[in-house]
Amino acid sequence: MAVLHCPTYEEVGVEQAIGRGLDLLGGAETFARPGEHILLKPNLLVGSRPSQAVTTHPAVFRGVARHLKRCGAVLTYGDSPGFGTTMGAAHRSGLVEVAEAEGIRPADFATGRSVSFPDGRQNKQFTVAAAALDADGIVSLPKLKAHGLTRMTGAVKNQFGCIPGLLKSEFHLRMGTMDRFGQMLVDLNRLLQPRLFVMDAIVAMEGNGPRSGDPRQLSALLLSSDPVALDAVACRLVGLDPALVVTVRWGQEYGLGSYSHIELLGDPLEPLVVPSFVINRRPGSTTGISGRWGRLARNLVVPRPAIRPDLCTACGTCVRVCPVTPEAVAFAEDPGLAAVGPDAPLIAEPETNPPTAPGSSAPRRPPVHHYSRCIRCYCCQEMCPQRAIEIDRPLLGRILHHA
Ligand code: SF4
Ligand code: SF4
Repeated sequence: MAVLHCPTYEEVGVEQAIGRGLDLLGGAETFARPGEHILLKPNLLVGSRPSQAVTTHPAVFRGVARHLKRCGAVLTYGDSPGFGTTMGAAHRSGLVEVAEAEGIRPADFATGRSVSFPDGRQNKQFTVAAAALDADGIVSLPKLKAHGLTRMTGAVKNQFGCIPGLLKSEFHLRMGTMDRFGQMLVDLNRLLQPRLFVMDAIVAMEGNGPRSGDPRQLSALLLSSDPVALDAVACRLVGLDPALVVTVRWGQEYGLGSYSHIELLGDPLEPLVVPSFVINRRPGSTTGISGRWGRLARNLVVPRPAIRPDLCTACGTCVRVCPVTPEAVAFAEDPGLAAVGPDAPLIAEPETNPPTAPGSSAPRRPPVHHYSRCIRCYCCQEMCPQRAIEIDRPLLGRILHHA
């Protein structure tokens, strides 16, 4: 596990730091051989400018690509964003420009293929993007960010983007609890087995992540072939107990990697640690309760998405991405709620003025959450383009936490 101090996204410095990290792990040729087809899997959650720290920075993408190309590997890249198209997200995030300059082709993330995985501890069947299945190897390029559901998103979570399109929402619905969701992510990593993980933690995202938080300078690049160890070190970087992160805990339990014994190479970690990084350090599950009484308890104590009317433009993205739509979040005045669903068109593009309510010239009001039906997956908070959804703790939850 290599830790590199890297204070800026300056092209040469990033490439050199990645080269140093690769050397510490045995050399780039350990991860890519001549003629091999290697898929680069950045975090392309949505189309977002690099300065917003939502996506893997193009300088990290470029640096890794150049080292692998020198080994003779043939590179492709892609991700399945939470919203919109892969190429749209890649354009806005600055990756297309780099990919074209470096001769890296976009891969097929729209087509999914069903694969059985008998060794899965929880999930024995996945539908995975063809690109991830057809590559000889995957090199994963996660971005370190705070996350509403899993506390942090990093190396293990990055492979969720290999599930095409809206099938991701289905997993949220089927898994139901944070533990089950984490176990699914670990199984998915055990199936795909990326060879190498290079985490962009030069500028991370704190607070209301993974899309609506704030950039925070950490000045670090982390490299490892073990995603569990890497995520655990990322936790230490931001002052979060790794045992609180389900993908780390289940990652070790299911044999994906280890966070108990990590050999740190490279630069000292301690000077890079930012204890004031804003991230959920509260113990306890953010979901994880089922059954009638469980649902009641969930409504009383578990954090929930809350819309800020002053920021909401009534664009409808949250309604569209919710796996329990329209029961869990919907426009109150919409007579056609049954028509709202994954295939429904957007009500308005995020940047436009608020649309009007049906049969009225009045602007639409923000959607309404129905907490008794909400499974607390936080997809709506994750994808809101206006930073208008925050995660709010009910009063009882706040009291219990301080008890
Ligand atoms: S996604 Fe955000 S801005 Fe759009 S309707 Fe929902 S809360 Fe409002
Ligand atoms: S958290 Fe949001 S997206 Fe998830 S079920 Fe609740 S309303 Fe739907």
